[in-house]
Amino acid sequence: MFNLFELSGPYGLLLFLAGIVGIIASIRYLFRTTPISSVHAGKVHDGCKFDRAEVRRTSMLATPPIDLSNLPPPDARVVAELAGVQIANVEKALKELTGETNVTVGGKSVQITSRNTYHKNLDLAMAYLEEFYAGLGVKTTRVQYMQRGKKFYNLEAIFPGKVTPDKVIVIGAHLDSTAGDPWRLEAVAPGANDDGSGTVSLKEIAKVLVKLNLGNTVRLVHFTGEEQGLWGSYTYSDKLAEDKTRVIAMFEMDMVGHCHKPGNRLDIHDDLDRNGSHALVVDLVRNVARYGLQLNPVDTHNHAVHDRSDNAGFLDHGWKAVLISQEFSDDGWDPNYHSVNDRIASMNLPFMVETIKMVIATVCDYAGIR
Ligand SMILES: [Zn+2]
Ligand SMILES: [Zn+2]
Repeated sequence: MFNLFELSGPYGLLLFLAGIVGIIASIRYLFRTTPISSVHAGKVHDGCKFDRAEVRRTSMLATPPIDLSNLPPPDARVVAELAGVQIANVEKALKELTGETNVTVGGKSVQITSRNTYHKNLDLAMAYLEEFYAGLGVKTTRVQYMQRGKKFYNLEAIFPGKVTPDKVIVIGAHLDSTAGDPWRLEAVAPGANDDGSGTVSLKEIAKVLVKLNLGNTVRLVHFTGEEQGLWGSYTYSDKLAEDKTRVIAMFEMDMVGHCHKPGNRLDIHDDLDRNGSHALVVDLVRNVARYGLQLNPVDTHNHAVHDRSDNAGFLDHGWKAVLISQEFSDDGWDPNYHSVNDRIASMNLPFMVETIKMVIATVCDYAGIR
């Protein structure tokens, strides 16, 4: 009869080693994580601290010029669509997403109190978005990735181009939220500005894109795991690179709902023209002038929010990408950032509507509406 404990010599040692290997493999399986490309190596995400030293260092550098002459006339179809972006719609969507009003998801009335990465309501919020896109007749896909043994999803909605569908424009926002303690389960994390504002912006953009004939493809992507360190957008951008996708532009909208200074200043970060991303800033700023929007977009011309949002992964892969966000300075900063007070009451919805219009006009140009 075989008795494991009586084995000795080389067989016993082999069995012992096999056992160790088995235990390590099981632990690794329990904590399995989708591998992240080496292009993102060396990134440190230290809780979204704003790098003031970087702002001081770059404040004396000349900002690349933006020529506002020879603007093309506004496109009548775009003008008509911009008129449809209304404060009331944005406010209603924000209330639903931040738990201020109940929503019907899967036939049940629910309250989305938190979109914290570890809260079950994050899934509810994603289902809510899926129902929204289904209502428009737009197909969505949950793109899965793993982190520490748990499955997470980014949600993508694809609007295929009719002429050159292989040319892709990505517009991103993150669906997850935090009230300041992202590594724990937070029961209340409204995240109205961060990043309910970007999420609702994507909904408004979808409502326009679905009505237009696009030459190139547009992907609207709701990323997750942003607050823990850009988990979703790193894996998503890696997959695009692996598939040899031609990303011609990436626009991330993160915290676009707070501005309490006159002039509606909005920051656009191109990481000091990394990969030629200043070209996107130029097109956004020119469209503000072309369509007479009430915005003051500013090229921040520094790395101060480098790797702080979902555009980072796209820059790492060599694509043009910008972060569109609120003013990152001492007095422009949202005091309710990463707190339970990040609610609609502290937002500036007319400012947010103008920002959405700027992105719609620019995406229409990049997608080549026909
Ligand atoms: Zn954010
Ligand atoms: Zn955040």
